[in-house]
Amino acid sequence: MSLTVLMNAGPWLSVPPPGYGGIENVIATLVPELRRLGVRVVLASVGSSTLPVDDRMSVFADEQFAALQRPYNQVCGIAQAHLAGVVRELHSRDDIDLVHDHVEAVGLATLAAMGPAGPPTLHTLHWDLAKHPALYGSLDGGARVRVNGVSASQLARAPLALREHSVGHVHLSTPLAVDADRRPRPEKGGHLLILGRINPGKGQDVGARLAHRVGIPLVLAGPVGPYHRPAELAAAGDEARQNPDVRFFLDEVAPHVDGDLVRWVGTVAGQERDDLLASARASLFPLRWEEPGGTAVVESLALGTPVVATARGCLPELIEHGRTGLLTADEDELADLVLAADLLDPDECRRVAARRFTPAVMAQRYVELYQRVRELAGTTRL
Ligand code: UDP
Repeated sequence: MSLTVLMNAGPWLSVPPPGYGGIENVIATLVPELRRLGVRVVLASVGSSTLPVDDRMSVFADEQFAALQRPYNQVCGIAQAHLAGVVRELHSRDDIDLVHDHVEAVGLATLAAMGPAGPPTLHTLHWDLAKHPALYGSLDGGARVRVNGVSASQLARAPLALREHSVGHVHLSTPLAVDADRRPRPEKGGHLLILGRINPGKGQDVGARLAHRVGIPLVLAGPVGPYHRPAELAAAGDEARQNPDVRFFLDEVAPHVDGDLVRWVGTVAGQERDDLLASARASLFPLRWEEPGGTAVVESLALGTPVVATARGCLPELIEHGRTGLLTADEDELADLVLAADLLDPDECRRVAARRFTPAVMAQRYVELYQRVRELAGTTRL
C-alpha cells in the first residue's frame, strides 16, 4: 500500500514519552505497526522525539508539557504555533495523503480551516467531550475532515457536531499485549495500584480512603499536574497550588498518604512501571469521570492484573465483569470488589488482552478508517 500519513502528535511531550503520556504512548504504539503495513509516516511533534519514522517536523525543540499549567489562552497559543508549522509543512509538500491529528480542539479547528484544498484528515478524540462542547463548537471541514473515538461510550457522549463527522471508534492498545499469554508470571505482591494522572476524575482520594478502610497497601503512581516527583512538588512551594490537580492532591489525597499503607511514588516509567503493574493484586480505577480510552486499563490486563473500577466511560467495553475485572456503579462497593478480585485469573486477563488489544489490531483498524476517510473526501482509493 502506498500511503503517506502526517501524524500530528502536538507539542506537549516527546514520542515516545519519557514516562506519563497517554496520547504520545498511543502514537508510539501505532506508528511502528502502520509502517509494518507499508504506510509512510511523517511525524509532527517536538524535536526531542525519537520514534523512528520516515520523515519528521517540529516547531518546538523540546517538550512544552510544563506550560500546560499556564492560563488557557497561553496553552492554546503554544498549540496554535505548532499547528501553524504543520500547515506550512502541508503547503510545502504534495506527498501527504492524509493527516492523522491528535491535538485536541486546536488541531481539528486549524486543519478544518484549511478548506477544500487541505488533505483528508482524521482527528482522534482523546477526551471526554460531553463536558467540553465549546472546545469544538461547530466543526466544519466539509467532507474532508472526520473524527474517531477511542471508545463507543466516548462517541455516544460527544456533541452532535462531532458525532455527525465520526467514522467509528478504535479501542486503545498496548505493546504489552503482544505475546502477553507467554510472558513469565510475576510474583503477585499485596498492593493495589492506581496508575494515572493524579486528578479528581481518576479518583485517587476515593482509593486512598478505601485502602485505609480495608487495610490493603495502595501505590499511587503518576504526575501531579506538571510535577513528576514528590521532591519536585515539595520544592515548588505555594506557587504549585495554582494548578487544580495540585490543589486536589494536597487537599484531598495527601492527608491519606502516610508513606506506609498509602504511598505516592510519582511518575513511573519503563520496567519500573511494568513491574509495579504486573505485581499488583489489582488495578483500581475509582473513576469520577467518563474515562474515554483507558490506556492504563488495557496495560493492566496485558500484564495479568485484574481491574476493579467504577463502571464509567469505556470501562464496561474494556472489562468483562467477572472475567477480567469487577465493575460497580456504586463507589461504596469498591472495597468488597477489591477483596473478590483475588478470585480472578491473571492469565485470563493476559489472554483477553493478547486477543483484543494488540498494536496490530489497532493499526489494522486505523488503516480501514484512513481508507474510509479518503473515500468520503472523494480522493482515490488506497
Ligand atoms: N503512565 C506512566 N507512568 C505513570 C502514570 C501513567 O507511564 O506514572 C502512563 C500509563 O501507563 C498510560 C498513560 O500514561 O500509558 C496514561 O493514559 P490513560 O489513557 O490511562 O490516562 P489519561 O491520562 O490519558 O487520561
